[in-house]
Amino acid sequence: MSITPLMPVYPRCGVRPVRGDHCHLIDEDGTRYLDFASGIAVNLLGHSHEGLIGAIQRQAATLMHVSNLYGSPQGEALAQRLVDKTFADTVFFTNSGAEAVECAIKTARAYHQAAGSENRHELITFTSAFHGRTMATISASNQEKMHKGFMPLLGGFKYVEFDDLEGAKAAIGPNTAGFLVEPIQGEGGIRPASDAFMKGLRTLADENDLMLVLDEVQCGVARTGKLYAYEHYGIEPDILATAKGIGGGFPLGACLATEKAARGMGFGTHGSTYGGNPLAMAAGTAVMDAVANDEFLAEVTEKGERIRTRLEQFIGNYPDLFELVRGKGLMLGLKMKVESRPFFAHLRDNHQLLTVAAGDNTLRVLPPLVIGDAEIEEFFDKLSAGAADYAVPEPA
Ligand SMILES: *Cc1c(COP(=O)(O)O)cnc(C)c1O
Repeated sequence: MSITPLMPVYPRCGVRPVRGDHCHLIDEDGTRYLDFASGIAVNLLGHSHEGLIGAIQRQAATLMHVSNLYGSPQGEALAQRLVDKTFADTVFFTNSGAEAVECAIKTARAYHQAAGSENRHELITFTSAFHGRTMATISASNQEKMHKGFMPLLGGFKYVEFDDLEGAKAAIGPNTAGFLVEPIQGEGGIRPASDAFMKGLRTLADENDLMLVLDEVQCGVARTGKLYAYEHYGIEPDILATAKGIGGGFPLGACLATEKAARGMGFGTHGSTYGGNPLAMAAGTAVMDAVANDEFLAEVTEKGERIRTRLEQFIGNYPDLFELVRGKGLMLGLKMKVESRPFFAHLRDNHQLLTVAAGDNTLRVLPPLVIGDAEIEEFFDKLSAGAADYAVPEPA
């Protein structure tokens, strides 16, 4: 037998973390890495946050799981918190981002089908998007590398160029149910949508009775200095998928919706065995306690601006390597003039700095939101050293 016990779908690197310490990961062999990847925007409180750990420990000892057949004081409380802090009137809890997007897609379809518009099932989605790895969420993305081997795709998605408002408008037809978009593309390369695009989608949705569905799985939960990124654009969605940071490392996601948008989601229409169980709710509540306040959000904004300014100065020293810095808050991307993946591996293997590669030759800088001055200094030391001793590999 040559297949590995872990199904070999990830090309895993040699870093094998066994312990976390605030903003560092410690490998099997004791090597310390500075973690500016945060499990891909997940560990927003770092790796040893007392509030989060204590909440999980206490809840694990009290009640870990019960069925959604029973009343959920824990779920009601966290849903209320999210309702109070966002556009939403109602929340469905999931265990992952893809499941949150899946629920968002079902909610958008059900909105129309509840009113008898069976044909209005199509969501307009955007190039270079990433929405997850289930059949519906790969179908929602135009990226062929995720489709290969899994055909046929699920119908009901139409792809339009990201940030192209005219294209989105032209794609609206009698079958359109709404738009599904990341306000800031993550996997696509930390590409923020323009103000005009997001406002324009809102207007088109209002004019045509369409659902504006946001995938904030990566950009949500304080990452950009707002609790949710839509707040930067002065608009509100009808439906929003959130996950990654919301559990701080515990598997948790949610689909948020307005009362109007959720009109098709009545008893029996959707479900999840684990979704919203008490342990997950304890983790989500601890994260909200830490991040959903103006003081914390202002710190994220301030640290983001500080890092961005320094990154902009830094890339000036290496005009052959770097093109520009983009993103919002602590969701930053360095667009490179060379392939970003080998550079990201170089930083990891030779400088013990963890970042994440992304599309469009971008290096993602996604530190825990709790980083302090010492970690910021360490980051620039490692990044500078890494750029200074980097030999751009010959194209294969
Ligand atoms: C990570 C991600 C997902 C999928 O989340 P999973 O928890 O891996 O299912 C969906 N959308 C966006 C924007 C993401 O970044």
